[in-house]
Amino acid sequence: MPPSRHPQAPGDIVTPDRDITHAHFRPGDRVVILKGTSGSELWGDAYKVVTPSRHTATDEDGWRLYDPAGGERSYVTAHPRYLVHLSARCPDCLIYQQALRTYLVPRMAGADEDVDCGWYSLTHLNQVVHVADARGGR
Ligand SMILES: [Zn+2]
Repeated sequence: MPPSRHPQAPGDIVTPDRDITHAHFRPGDRVVILKGTSGSELWGDAYKVVTPSRHTATDEDGWRLYDPAGGERSYVTAHPRYLVHLSARCPDCLIYQQALRTYLVPRMAGADEDVDCGWYSLTHLNQVVHVADARGGR
């Protein structure tokens, strides 16, 4: 269990079941990885989609992402199901976002600060890995 995990934070049962294709995203898209809550809203890190890249934890096709504020970690690789379009006009991403909000926000109602639920970690190869995709021993 990562040390950043909030004691109240529930496990993520929404993201692992999300069904989204790799081709749903394209280079140049603005996306966010939702990691927790800020009051009654979801909170996460924003990126720009750069190019296809192998996601090693799942051994599936992922996307390389660029974070302009990321410093040494400016480029990371993530699985498509972690990503949400920042555009409000994407119904597929909105459905996932609303499902996550409905699940998570009421459970974090007592938190008075931004909460990182600790669902994601970053490997030494700058791969973003959801706890549900993490393999033991790595
Ligand atoms: Zn979308």
